[in-house]
Amino acid sequence: MKKKRIGILFALCLLAGCGRLSNTTTDFFSMDTFMSLTVWADSEAQAQAAAVQIEQHINTLSNALSRQVAASTLAQLNAANGQPVTLDADAYAALEKAVQYAELTAGAFDPTTAPLSDLWGIGTEQAAVPAESAIQQALSHVGYQNIELLGNNQARLNNGAQVDLGGIGKGYATDAASGFQTPLLARLGGNIGAYGQNPNRKDGSWVIGLADPDNSAAYIATVSVQNESVVTSGDYERYFEQDGIQYHHIFDPTTGYPAQTGLRAVTVVDQQSTFADAMTTALFVMGLEKGKDFCAQYDIAAAFITKDRKIYITEGLQGRITLADGADYEIIA
Ligand code: ADP
Ligand code: MG
Repeated sequence: MKKKRIGILFALCLLAGCGRLSNTTTDFFSMDTFMSLTVWADSEAQAQAAAVQIEQHINTLSNALSRQVAASTLAQLNAANGQPVTLDADAYAALEKAVQYAELTAGAFDPTTAPLSDLWGIGTEQAAVPAESAIQQALSHVGYQNIELLGNNQARLNNGAQVDLGGIGKGYATDAASGFQTPLLARLGGNIGAYGQNPNRKDGSWVIGLADPDNSAAYIATVSVQNESVVTSGDYERYFEQDGIQYHHIFDPTTGYPAQTGLRAVTVVDQQSTFADAMTTALFVMGLEKGKDFCAQYDIAAAFITKDRKIYITEGLQGRITLADGADYEIIA
């Protein structure tokens, strides 16, 4: 009897294609970066429908979390001259997290670096090293303490502060995508989310490459994850060159200059992509020595890639990273 039932189940499975999922990949541009979603479902139509739904949601978040979108409540907050503004629910939730992570990192992550990004013009044709006086002037408005969260989605900015959620927006969107459909491999620029069982691997895990800072199409190491996000911030994503020096887009909020700490990139692995996103930015600003202590204190799974081709892996990530064949990097303790 038992045998027969298994036989029937097997036949049904053959007919229905049991266990064989269809997948679809969609590539698009959002949040000022290239994104790619690979979604698996019982049928191709279902996979495509889910991919469209996730893409639309990310585009909605892109509008809500961008200070550059004039109609966004975040842009309204920046233009309100210190008056309280009611924010879109996602913008408020992301801002709340940004403030929380700014406090946690003592301002190494600071969502009020907007005047610095504008002044340096990173990512624009006008990018140039500003005058020292202009940097000091911009810095006088920088400080997450200028953000007042008033509850009920209301916020107010003091002291001419301007909010920029560029440091966690993709993380917030990755976390949102994780709730839609599995299995899902989401690549939102430097934010990767790998959710559910990977149908291509027996153990269901996902192998994610850590980009080579000298060639972001190649990778220097891989990390195996499941239901986690892998976030990387690097000096090679957005930068300009002046007099032979490269200036990138992650600012040290205490100096007003791009953080110069001897790092090329920091990767953080965490279930929460928003957290990982804020931490990669903060750890990049802290540098290796401070960053090591911070990761030990808060049990953060991170890898630091240094300019002199070394990779430091925190305790939480040890044993999970494999150096790629031929990678000219040394793992240090
Ligand atoms: P990417 O957006 O390239 O993945 P990050 O997550 O590190 O890189 O975010 C960098 C962006 O965050 C910058 O483009 C800027 O908008 C903003 N930013 C720059 N410096 C800081 C900082 N110290 N804290 C928070 N946000 C920052
Ligand atoms: Mg970040």
